[in-house]
Amino acid sequence: MQAVNIIADLHCHSTASDGTLPPAEVVARAAGNEVDILALTDHDTTAGLDEAYLCAEESNIRLIPGIELSATWQGKLLHIVGLDIDPEHPPLKQGIQVLKEMREVRAREMGRRLAKAGYHDTYENARRLAGDGNVTRTHFARHLIEAGVAKDFTDVFKRFLVRGKPGYYHVDWSTMEDAVTWITGAGGIAVVAHPLRYKLTANWLNRVLTAFKQAGGEGIEVICGRNTPDDNARSALFARKHGLLASTGSDFHEPGKWVELGRLEKLPEGLEAVWQKWV
Ligand code: AMP
Ligand code: MN
Ligand code: MN
Ligand code: MN
Repeated sequence: MQAVNIIADLHCHSTASDGTLPPAEVVARAAGNEVDILALTDHDTTAGLDEAYLCAEESNIRLIPGIELSATWQGKLLHIVGLDIDPEHPPLKQGIQVLKEMREVRAREMGRRLAKAGYHDTYENARRLAGDGNVTRTHFARHLIEAGVAKDFTDVFKRFLVRGKPGYYHVDWSTMEDAVTWITGAGGIAVVAHPLRYKLTANWLNRVLTAFKQAGGEGIEVICGRNTPDDNARSALFARKHGLLASTGSDFHEPGKWVELGRLEKLPEGLEAVWQKWV
């Protein structure tokens, strides 16, 4: 089949990080939505992949082992998706372990800061919602909404969880170069996730993408959940300018509240699909 006729959803989350569906249910839901190629890309963990594989074997879906690594470059937060990685690659495993520890330290500090602002036990509740998985800001957000402190995600992030707000605690995560090296070392392809969500100027984004390519990065998400048609067109320009492979992903987290698995626009003309080699 030609790459353009394929539905490739190469960015989504399960309960291994901040999604609400277990990995097997994510895979089954994607298969139900006629996704041909799916990558499970949980935040800083590959813990959901084994379960996802078991489910993928029972359906026609092609599962690509993935991850979404938290990284920084020159103080700017970046999310780097790794596709087709070997989760057993030792440097990647060590990187994941360091990020896990950073997430735990950060979550406890977020809890302390929120307590100072009068909101108690938020770490304990976020941890409860995360189960054994990585605690993310999404878990704090879900708890604060459940507790009636905020009305929805937009409200809770704006009031509590972004820079300058009581529950925010800055972490430098991995460097962008390390994140790319762990992914490529693990045999994978590094992709800049949702390039327009960092609120960078075009100049900054061009600098990021130049450094990303120099580090060995190969792809960029052109179509991603919540992009407007204009965002898709702008992302395509960055892909062409930097000679990057184009990826598509819903960034699905939960039914109803996020873009649905596999519900993605087609890639604009003149781009090379990152999934071409898996067709
Ligand atoms: P973390 O990696 O712990 O900083 O959490 C980041 C996650 O929070 C993202 O992957 C999103 O799932 C979620 N997130 C960030 N900003 C928002 C927002 N404004 N509304 C809803 N979810 C958000
Ligand atoms: Mn998330
Ligand atoms: Mn992200
Ligand atoms: Mn994501």
